[in-house]
Amino acid sequence: MMVLTKKMIEIRSILQKVGQSSSLALPSIVVIGSQSSGKSSVLEALVGHEFLPKGSNMVTRRPIELTLVNTPESGDEYGEFPDLGLRRISDFSSIQRTLTELNTAVSDADCVSDDPIHLTIYSPNVPDLSLIDLPGYIQVVGQNQPLQLKQKISELCDKYIQPPNVILAISAADVDLANSTALRASRRVDPRGERTIGVITKMDLVDPTRGASILNDKQYPLRLGYVGVVSKAPSAQGLFKMGPTNLMSAITKHENSFFSSHPLEFGPDAGVNVGTTTLRKKLMHVLEQTMSASLQTTSNAIRQELEEATYEFKVQYNDRPLSAESYLAESLDTFKHSFKQFTEGFGRPQMRELLKSELDQKVLDLLAARYWNKPITDLSVATPEPDHIADLPKAEPDSLYWHRQLDASASALTKLGVGRLATTVVASSLQTHVDKLLNNSNFASHPFARQAILEAASTILNERFYSTSDQVENCIKPFKFEIDIEEREWSQGRQHAGEVLKKELHDCEAALGSLESSVGGRRKMKEVINFIDKARKGDIVVEGDGRSGAGGFSAALLTKGREAVFLRDRADIIKMRLMAVKSKQCASIKNKYYCPEVFLDAVASKLASTAVLFLNVELLSEFYYNFPRELDLRLGRHLTEDEAEKFAKEDPKIRRHLEVIRRKELLELVLEKMDSLRQLEGRERDRGTSG
Ligand code: GDP
Repeated sequence: MMVLTKKMIEIRSILQKVGQSSSLALPSIVVIGSQSSGKSSVLEALVGHEFLPKGSNMVTRRPIELTLVNTPESGDEYGEFPDLGLRRISDFSSIQRTLTELNTAVSDADCVSDDPIHLTIYSPNVPDLSLIDLPGYIQVVGQNQPLQLKQKISELCDKYIQPPNVILAISAADVDLANSTALRASRRVDPRGERTIGVITKMDLVDPTRGASILNDKQYPLRLGYVGVVSKAPSAQGLFKMGPTNLMSAITKHENSFFSSHPLEFGPDAGVNVGTTTLRKKLMHVLEQTMSASLQTTSNAIRQELEEATYEFKVQYNDRPLSAESYLAESLDTFKHSFKQFTEGFGRPQMRELLKSELDQKVLDLLAARYWNKPITDLSVATPEPDHIADLPKAEPDSLYWHRQLDASASALTKLGVGRLATTVVASSLQTHVDKLLNNSNFASHPFARQAILEAASTILNERFYSTSDQVENCIKPFKFEIDIEEREWSQGRQHAGEVLKKELHDCEAALGSLESSVGGRRKMKEVINFIDKARKGDIVVEGDGRSGAGGFSAALLTKGREAVFLRDRADIIKMRLMAVKSKQCASIKNKYYCPEVFLDAVASKLASTAVLFLNVELLSEFYYNFPRELDLRLGRHLTEDEAEKFAKEDPKIRRHLEVIRRKELLELVLEKMDSLRQLEGRERDRGTSG
């Protein structure tokens, strides 16, 4: 018969994973009693080990859902905390420590929590039972304890003593039964005494006649009856020497000798139930009865729950199967695919373009510093008109000064650290692209995976960084000594330099435009600019430092005005440079000293093209080869089941989807188990009646 309870306890634990709904739960035995009634002693006598938290200050603050599993074939005794992943703890004092820690983790302010601790104990000496130990009722609220504590404990207990659970109400023999908090609580929810077992502890502390009369109590009759126990071993010290394994036999021996020394009151003919062994048998029997009685209702509830889950799965998720692993694998495949697509569109030409535009900026800066660094008046050009070209800085082809200027500029360009610059530009562009791909992938809503992927990319890029920089730097080394530009390269440079300047001019004018509208229009800005121009030429004297405003303009307005003057002057210079580039003089490389813009552009192009050849081999190909492999390593098959689960559940949509499926699967599993159990039970019953 006992197979039944074992199987039902198994089902009960599966059901616990399904959800909270009480209609889905199979019954358990709930142990209640006031503090010091001997509740812990009874439980430990049943288990045969000391394992419950001890101490005076409210040591049980959370329900302990205790599952006892009988393992007849094995001599090992051990406990497990499945929620904590703690397995096979064979040292019961370590179980006791863990329980104490878990309980004391509940703050003094809260005092009790309804979050249960799950503990399973495997032993050949325990019966298959499922018990729930609850905080003991308190009579008087102690110091430092919240006033509503009494209330809180009682509410917590009330939650658990609901049907179909069996109530094990513990009362001490030396306290009047009318004062037993446990019995009072049980009567509230089980007024006819149909699912309460009364346990009277400390039978050794009262006169045997009185003890026997308690067990025969007629004032609080219980259908399942009372059991009297002496669950304290003779001497704690002696027990310690004996070692904990003998707790069970020590108690039994002590109990037996006590009860058998009073045969009149407790003997076989006295009609009372006594002893821990009797209690154990009774619990097994009652739990099995209760479990099989609730088998039908529970399986109906499960069937209904399953129907709901199936419906939700169909309507919300189109019956689409999904597992954390398959979701991860699919997401990874899609991501790798999108990466592959990206690689096809990002190669040498794209890198070259990136690098060239970076160098263009450097060229602009160099030119500004070496050629266009004087105030425009010094260049004797006020408003550049085509006929002012002649006023450009005169570059005598043979003037050593202009030779040196150009050579110095070219040398500054080749020596600015092209290796590092090129590698940085390409690497950070790759990072940005990976980031973009991520944002458009499933991983967008998975911070954990996102992080892993970004790290995968940066790890590879970082590893290649220094060697790539060095290689590129080496390969452009010749240009530091000599640069040969062909006519074709020159005319390309001329074309491109013109475009770069045009873009600069456009940006400059746009900035000026937005500055104008920020002060209320072009007219207003013109007034401010006029004032600043005059002040600069010394036509008018600006009082003070101008910070507090001048000429009827506020300080803020003057600041904007100065910015505008700067932009205007800059635009003028750019226009002039643009015209120079377009001029006939710059049509051929022969005049390279006239045309630094074109020359440096051509040099920059050479640098970019050469650098890209090596970037391609050293960085890009390596990255394209290694990145997908690194992804597999970090997110692929190497993730454990739990990690995959954690990943998938980061996305709330996927989480719900997975949960419905899991719920459905668990319910199906439970139902299957229950059906076969019912068949087994039916067969047992038939055998019982025929036998
Ligand atoms: P709990 O607070 O209800 O868990 O009570 P305990 O199991 O910790 O017991 C309270 C006190 O009563 C302890 O000192 C036990 O040793 C003692 N005790 C428990 N059961 C018995 C018993 O059957 N006989 C005697 N004499 N003392 C007991």
